[in-house]
Amino acid sequence: MSGRGAYYKAKYGGGGRGGGGRGGGRGGGRGGGKYNDNPPNNSAPGTGGGSAETLIQQLHQLDNSQYPRYHSIETVHQPSVGGGWVYANRENPAGEPLFVLSIQKTQSDPFAKPTRVRVFVPAITANFPPHLYQNSDRRRALSDRCLRAFHSACINGGMDQAANQGNSNWSGPKGGDVKIMQPGQNVLSQSAVHVQNDGSVLAHFTVSLPARGRSILGQVAANIFGSSVPQIVRAGLLSASFNPAATEAYVYAVEDQANLRRQLDAHNPPLVAFVADGSVLPRSSGASDTPLTVGPNEPNVVPFASPQTMSVTLTLTNQNRTISGMGIPEGVTVIVGGGFHGKSTLLTAIQLGVYDKIPGDGREFIVTRPDVVKVRAEDGRQLHSVDIRPFINNLPFGRSTAQFTSRDASGSTSQAANVMEALEMGSNTLIFDEDTCATNFMIRDAKMAALVHANSEPITPFISRVSSLYSDGRVSSIMVVGGAGDYLNVADKVLMMSNYSCNDVTADAKAVTSNAQFASQVPPVASGEPIDWSNVPSRTLNTNTFRPDWKCTVRSKEKISYGDDIEVQLFGLEQLVAHEQTNAILQAMHKVAKLPTPTPLRDICDQLEAQFESQGLLQALDGNFDGTLAQPRKYELAGAISRLRLANLISAGPQHGNNKKVKY
Ligand code: ADP
Ligand code: MG
Repeated sequence: MSGRGAYYKAKYGGGGRGGGGRGGGRGGGRGGGKYNDNPPNNSAPGTGGGSAETLIQQLHQLDNSQYPRYHSIETVHQPSVGGGWVYANRENPAGEPLFVLSIQKTQSDPFAKPTRVRVFVPAITANFPPHLYQNSDRRRALSDRCLRAFHSACINGGMDQAANQGNSNWSGPKGGDVKIMQPGQNVLSQSAVHVQNDGSVLAHFTVSLPARGRSILGQVAANIFGSSVPQIVRAGLLSASFNPAATEAYVYAVEDQANLRRQLDAHNPPLVAFVADGSVLPRSSGASDTPLTVGPNEPNVVPFASPQTMSVTLTLTNQNRTISGMGIPEGVTVIVGGGFHGKSTLLTAIQLGVYDKIPGDGREFIVTRPDVVKVRAEDGRQLHSVDIRPFINNLPFGRSTAQFTSRDASGSTSQAANVMEALEMGSNTLIFDEDTCATNFMIRDAKMAALVHANSEPITPFISRVSSLYSDGRVSSIMVVGGAGDYLNVADKVLMMSNYSCNDVTADAKAVTSNAQFASQVPPVASGEPIDWSNVPSRTLNTNTFRPDWKCTVRSKEKISYGDDIEVQLFGLEQLVAHEQTNAILQAMHKVAKLPTPTPLRDICDQLEAQFESQGLLQALDGNFDGTLAQPRKYELAGAISRLRLANLISAGPQHGNNKKVKY
């Protein structure tokens, strides 16, 4: 090895054991390198590190040993930089390495969760042009691009396949698959691949260390670490494997979306959402997030076209050109139309406009304000001390709704709480779809109001509040209401979906509502006092009811089990788009357990969100080598905590002597 090569090996790998030495060779720390802190005389497993050749040699020597001996390939690392096995760059053997591979802890048996692996690629090796990682949007985009390349390299090389395909025999070969988080249509901030500020790249993936029975398959493992992993790393993390023009276009396209979103507020009048002309809204199926394409069964995929009256022009900053589309202004927007004419499809595209999409998704230039929250009814959800008085009062037997708690809320109380919780977290834009709303929360018609006296009806329907939400609190609403014509009375804009095309029928709606025959039937609110919607106080969370040591599992994107038998259902949080976001929420709950108690829920979530931005997900969440985290919004984070049965949330409302901010 050349002198320079030895230098980099020491810098990154520190003192390896060399020659695969066993037993006595362990912990042979020769000073430690930049990424290896090698405690002296440490005879415990896990002090590996050195050249990749050493690793491969060691794996060959481990062949047929007992499975736990895999521990000997674990590396010592410093959390912030990683460290371990140094793979020299064959193009420049004397220079910075190709990458450094670290393994914090190997799996204890072939059936356990696969082993987490980290790869660090120095900036000079990754060699992406600095303008592609100069700000956080571009880093997120480039990281996403690398993740997709890494992921396809695993799939295309068949490296995601376990050795035991179709053979579940206990004594047969097993493991051997290399896997990384599967990206979807959204360009999320995630922990699988992270391009850092300085252009270096960290990747976190898993390897199922291969075995036959409970013995190490050393040759297979040597092949994975000696050939498959370097191949995937080259394909996924090195600029040299990417088409420079396509990579730049990708990064620019994602950044353009983020910049479009920033233009909403600055527009005159301010917009809550923008739907670009030509967007393809429908998805290929209820179970798939990919765009619907024209085919024998789908002759009519109608691209979006803005009604002329709503057309606005924004700028695609990187492409230096304008883009036209429908701008939905602040206020109350009602979407009407016959069943199956595309109302929910439009609304769903809008609610997911908080995320950037991959180019080609069809919805990539549909952007909404980042604070948009979809609100729905959620029969059966847990409620903790939510002040739902603006919507529900005078419950039977005088039950208070100032701090409403329920283990099994009804459709209307859950929806009222979902509105109040969104406001508590600072949302200024609410979205509703009749398909998932409680009718009695949304409206009450004149006949019913005549029959059931206002004094014995606890609900002030949303229709009676939606105007004041905007005029007093500057909270806008976008809602699909096909069957509740009274909403035409309170709408600032009325859009009609007809054969998947969008029309501005605001003037027609005004004509209808001004017709004496259809006089306003919006039930008046019981008390005329204004509500301070923009100052809904945050409940405080007793963080000591959270247990950092509890065994918790993410069952699916929509289900977490917390502790022994507590399940949290998250289907009400429709803007969660990835299982990995739920993973991050669970990690965040562990972190919440360590915060001072009590702390306002809003502060907790604001702080976590700020830490995600400033430290990156992994560090903010103490996620050791965990490549399965994606950033959730604070709304979903708060939503999950509020749905946890054991959470102890205390109302900051008047009863607790705090400033009385909400007036009724
Ligand atoms: P609504 O909410 O008005 O009842 P949906 O939005 O659920 O209607 O749409 C009904 C069906 O039409 C869905 O299967 C959807 O995929 C399809 N669809 C929606 N928009 C379009 C479009 N622009 N082009 C083609 N099909 C569409
Ligand atoms: Mg619908």
